[in-house]
Amino acid sequence: MKFISTRSNAPQLDFEDVIITGLANDGGLYVPETWPRINPDQIRSFASKPYCDVAFEVMAPFVDSTIETEVFKDIIAQSYASFNYPAVVPLREMRPNEWILELFHGPTFAFKDVALQVLGRLIDHVLEKRNTRATIVVATSGDTGGAAIEAFKGRNRIDIFVLHPHDRVSEVQRRQMTTAAHDNIHNIALEGTFDDCQNLVKAMFNHPAFRQAHQLSGVNSINWARIMAQIVYYFTSASSLGAPDRKVRFCVPTGNFGDIYAGYAATKMGLPIDRLTIATNVNDILERAVKTGRYEVLGVTPTVSPSMDIQVSSNFERLLFDAVGREGASVTHMMNSLSQSGSFTITPEALTYIANNFDAVRSDEDETLKTIQEVYATSGEMIDPHTAVALAGARAGGNLEAIPQIILSTAHPAKFPDAVEKATGVRPPMPAQLSALFDLEERYSVLPNDLETVEGFIEANARSTASHD
Ligand SMILES: *Cc1c(COP(=O)(O)O)cnc(C)c1O
Repeated sequence: MKFISTRSNAPQLDFEDVIITGLANDGGLYVPETWPRINPDQIRSFASKPYCDVAFEVMAPFVDSTIETEVFKDIIAQSYASFNYPAVVPLREMRPNEWILELFHGPTFAFKDVALQVLGRLIDHVLEKRNTRATIVVATSGDTGGAAIEAFKGRNRIDIFVLHPHDRVSEVQRRQMTTAAHDNIHNIALEGTFDDCQNLVKAMFNHPAFRQAHQLSGVNSINWARIMAQIVYYFTSASSLGAPDRKVRFCVPTGNFGDIYAGYAATKMGLPIDRLTIATNVNDILERAVKTGRYEVLGVTPTVSPSMDIQVSSNFERLLFDAVGREGASVTHMMNSLSQSGSFTITPEALTYIANNFDAVRSDEDETLKTIQEVYATSGEMIDPHTAVALAGARAGGNLEAIPQIILSTAHPAKFPDAVEKATGVRPPMPAQLSALFDLEERYSVLPNDLETVEGFIEANARSTASHD
């Protein structure tokens, strides 16, 4: 399996190089050259298999022969042994035909663990095999940072620098990052937004001397392995509700477009999905883009669902690439326009392609809180605000055809206790692993939104240089 850049101007790579590289050196994102297919019988068989077995079958065609089968199976088994739920991602029926897929039973209580647990072990394996080291630089709107730290802490071959927007993540999220005591972990609280963090990370990747000197590696959802690991639960959940013989829908709380893009990837691999709904909060660039064809960056408004407070959704570029018939030049043109003027227009043909695969809904703060309250009042269950954005959107869309609809639940409610309490009047009980964070010392550095300063900080603190050890 080869991977190609969405801007068609970077070397084709195999899986191993793709996961180490992260962002392509033409600024694009790697995607598989062709989509592997999972046939209907195989999908049917998933309904009765353990999660790890399906995970192996879905991911193996991407990994191809770069990692030995037994090693990869072991990586999967260890990754999901870190989850505190035997089904890994339980699916629960809330109302008739309304299902919640709980993706937050990993070590940091956010769905990011599903992919980062695998990616951490994959990168470690490859660095070991190559006898080299890497510096990971990652931007986070809140949950990726904690999950990445959990996946990489204490790993000898890796230094990790996590950039989060100062004062714009929840206290639990911040403490999950800043209380890690391992000396390969470095937290930067950036004076800016998540988009500023993400832009700085991209700028470092586009700075060849710096990138090489520190052997930069990226674990944001630009990294293909993140997407790959998220494809799995679309297959497991749909097959358990009768796919491929019965249609299902998915509604996905969306920020950087990685999670829902994995659903799209599942359809390209043969999973019949009736509808994939992008759910956004008031930071609705994707909802506007899908409805109007104009992708236009406006300011970021802080909300109760901070992991979706994003304007530039990196993985949307992967969808655009398919939508323009895999013409890297067209993608490059749109992305240049985005960086120069903050907007671009999607061609009518490309927009039709997108509309054939996706719908989009937007929920404001009131709708989000009201949905948390409604769920609590009718079932006694608490859901987190990101899940609520998607559930509100799914409910607003109605379901006259009675097609099972799966809402992706991306965080444990206790990670966002203030919002949940505001909606329900009750503070969600805090799992012991989270309450323990409040007794630990925090370590982080507040830095200005300035590339040179941040690069200087990394320079001064990274243990690794380009030399092999
Ligand atoms: C990251 C995140 C999202 C958004 O996922 P994307 O893949 O970035 O679209 C939604 N909810 C939570 C809780 C998250 O952490």
